[in-house]
Amino acid sequence: MPIPQGPKEEQCVSMMQKILSFELKRRIAELYSRMENAYDAVARQLNFTCEGCPDNCCDSFFQHHTYIEWAYLWEGLYTLPEAQRETYIERAKNCVIESEAMLGRGERPALMCPVNDEGLCALYSYRLMICRMHGVPSAFMRPDGRKIEFPGCFRCQDLVEGKENIPVVDRTELYRDLAMLEAEFLGHRRHVLPRVKLTLAQMLVQGPPRIPEPC
Ligand code: SF4
Ligand code: SF4
Repeated sequence: MPIPQGPKEEQCVSMMQKILSFELKRRIAELYSRMENAYDAVARQLNFTCEGCPDNCCDSFFQHHTYIEWAYLWEGLYTLPEAQRETYIERAKNCVIESEAMLGRGERPALMCPVNDEGLCALYSYRLMICRMHGVPSAFMRPDGRKIEFPGCFRCQDLVEGKENIPVVDRTELYRDLAMLEAEFLGHRRHVLPRVKLTLAQMLVQGPPRIPEPC
């Protein structure tokens, strides 16, 4: 991620590791739990589970887009013993190197997430929104009125093929609430910060987000 340019003389700014307040931690945990409930409700209606899946989508290449999720992920990492955290960071460094090589060859990286231990997520309560939404069909309405639809994973697509009135998770409110939390977390600094577009491995390698603070 490009770091914002250094401070101008008349506008003294230092880069601080931004810590989430207790209240923001509580609210993002609550939002994540709503995402989980919305997902589970649709999965139940479809009688869909990940059990017996020959794939593990934790090796998919995807990027995340909010500072608050990045910071919360690090809250999760700090709950782990240091040796375990260091293991994940080392794995993440390898992931980043391999991903860049694969992207350079025009391939889409398929590398296991660095915090996945033998198929299980070591940061399950702190996993990011995309991790929580992938699987069942979902959709959201953009502010311009355009509807974006996600068909779900390949197994779920097979399951619903030919069916009508398929239930979907509506991501609209969930996205809106995440955007509100992000705005609250960053405050006026959101206007000067570069857009986040990072894989989870990159978030581990870069450390917690660093946000400019007035000196
Ligand atoms: S979401 Fe779909 S592809 Fe991923 S593990 Fe579950 S069933 Fe498999
Ligand atoms: S954070 Fe957890 S759920 Fe998300 S990709 Fe990594 S191991 Fe999978």
